[in-house]
This record gives sequence, structure tokens and C-alpha cells, in this order.
Amino acid sequence: MSIMTCRGCGATKPGPDGTPTDCFPSEHCGQCPPWRCETCGDMCSASDLCGCWITFEGMAFADVKAHLAAAGFDVGVPS
Ligand SMILES: [Zn+2]
Ligand SMILES: [Zn+2]
Repeated sequence: MSIMTCRGCGATKPGPDGTPTDCFPSEHCGQCPPWRCETCGDMCSASDLCGCWITFEGMAFADVKAHLAAAGFDVGVPS
């Protein structure tokens, strides 16, 4: 069992479901002060995320893959 530790502010806490975990991204958390996004250079915080934090909900799968590909991920899109 491990505890999630935020690499942004060092806060230590259990995972989002209350179960201690290290599977959840811990670059930043709700306790972090606003940080500058390394990708777009905009300021973002837990309550005001920058444009990189795209919500894929309701988005077509092809669009999701396009966004990931644009972000530099190899999503294996057949040519
Ligand atoms: Zn934090
Ligand atoms: Zn960004």
C-alpha cells in the first residue's frame, strides 16, 4: 500500500476514492499553488486548468486520437 504524494507541493494523501494509491497522476493537486504549464506556458491551477487539459468526454474517438497525436503521442493512427 502506498500513499499518493504530490510532486508539485509535496502533499500526501490517499487517492481520490479514499484508498491509498500511487496510480493517480500526482504532478499537481488541489492544494498546489497555480503553476505554469510546461506545454502551453499558460498559468493553470486545480480550479482553472489551461487549454491542455482537454476533456475527452463526449468527444469522438477520432478526435481524441487527433488531439493525442497533436500532443506528440503515437496513437498508431493508420495512414
Ligand atoms: Zn500538490
Ligand atoms: Zn497547458
